[in-house]
Amino acid sequence: MYASRPLTLMNTYGRQMEEFQPLEPGRVTMYTCGPTVYSYAHIGNFRAYIFADILRRTLEYNGFEITQVRNITDVGHLTNDTLSTGVDKMEAAARSQNASPWDIARHITEVFLDDAAKLNIEAPEHMPRATEYIGPMIDLIEVLVSRGYAYAAGGDVYFDVSKFPKYGALSGNTIEDLIGGHRVEVGEGKKSPADFSVWRSAGPDKIMRWDSPWGMGVPGWHLECSAMAIDLLGPEIDIHTGGEDHIFPHHEDEIAQSEAATGRRFSRFWLHNGWLQIGDSEKMSKSLGNIFTLSDLADRGIHPLSFRYFTLQAHYRTPLNFSWDALAAAQTGLYRLWEGAAELCQMATSEQPTDDATKFQAGFHEAINRDLDTSVALSVLHSVVGSKLSAGEKLTLIGDFERVLALDLIPMAKTLSQTSGAERTLLRERETARAIRDFARSDVLRDQLRASGVEVKDTPGGQRTIRKDVLPSFRNDDGEDEPG
Ligand SMILES: [Zn+2]
Repeated sequence: MYASRPLTLMNTYGRQMEEFQPLEPGRVTMYTCGPTVYSYAHIGNFRAYIFADILRRTLEYNGFEITQVRNITDVGHLTNDTLSTGVDKMEAAARSQNASPWDIARHITEVFLDDAAKLNIEAPEHMPRATEYIGPMIDLIEVLVSRGYAYAAGGDVYFDVSKFPKYGALSGNTIEDLIGGHRVEVGEGKKSPADFSVWRSAGPDKIMRWDSPWGMGVPGWHLECSAMAIDLLGPEIDIHTGGEDHIFPHHEDEIAQSEAATGRRFSRFWLHNGWLQIGDSEKMSKSLGNIFTLSDLADRGIHPLSFRYFTLQAHYRTPLNFSWDALAAAQTGLYRLWEGAAELCQMATSEQPTDDATKFQAGFHEAINRDLDTSVALSVLHSVVGSKLSAGEKLTLIGDFERVLALDLIPMAKTLSQTSGAERTLLRERETARAIRDFARSDVLRDQLRASGVEVKDTPGGQRTIRKDVLPSFRNDDGEDEPG
């Protein structure tokens, strides 16, 4: 055995590496800001969910029991906190598609969950829909108003940031900066430009609106997450995750509301992933219109897990540059791993190892415990495949690493190793032909197997096969030449 280093994580709150210990020994509570279901989640969004999944799986690998909440924001919310320019995205989507926002939310949620499953993202224990938590949200606002942290103004309710001295501690913004700068504009009834809405009034033109002590309206987006987190996980949670674009204002505001209401420290760890960007600097986002979905990737012959592998090649905090070439290269790397694992499955597992399995396992554990260094973890995996370990030990290690990486290495190894009865007959004939050195016949049989979708490789241990007809191939074009 080996002694693993403790799990250390970069805490955005305080901006330093900290050793992770949960509040309750052995159990971790974790909140992940989920999708807003007014249009399809794109692969930039999914980078955040893959990162949260790696975190979750790393915690599990370290023996912790996880309770994770990943909400579904099915209430349309403003593009920003500026009432004058904000647009309710879900209602805009509903109007343009002639459907109700509830229908759209239901459909987009289904597609999201389907895509998450294709990416091997483990389902969280709780996936609350914001529209099912309007009651707890109103309760939370009432607490904030009664404690003097929030005030009503003309059907809207604002959080008074001047009452919360720690406001800005997560993002590094100061209230003076926010007031002095042009980030916020004075909305009607706001005492200070830096105050943000926790409830906003909604007239009859709004399809989604609820009754409240302040009249008909909708909850603020930031408030939704606070209410669901506190309701499902309690006033203090261990880890909160999201994309780095959530640090301000979303997470800053979540902290202010939650801590003002409960008097407790809302989350001890805040983890944020870097953007997936196009070119060298442009963020992939709905508002910029430069987005790709998982189904766009499938149209170009990219397997969903090739995208997962692509994101794991970089550290979660670094920006990741998207290009089709980089994605195709990641797919080649993943296919090589799948084919290597398939070969291992077809080898005798009894040979004596001449390498130390513990060394690799310790290296892997060390990498993921160092703020989730998946890039090093992947290189340990490649080293295992190319090592002098026995096939059996390699497969054991691959299975162990898979608990975190979740790249389907073992199931795909089995799929790629499958042959039909007819193919096995051809393989036996070919083995006989090679034994009597009839190489012309052996080559004919190889071609027949290839036509059937099976590639044969001759090794000192005998023939190995890879099914080539089950994996999509990347197409380096826009698909215009394809029929249909
Ligand atoms: Zn959130």
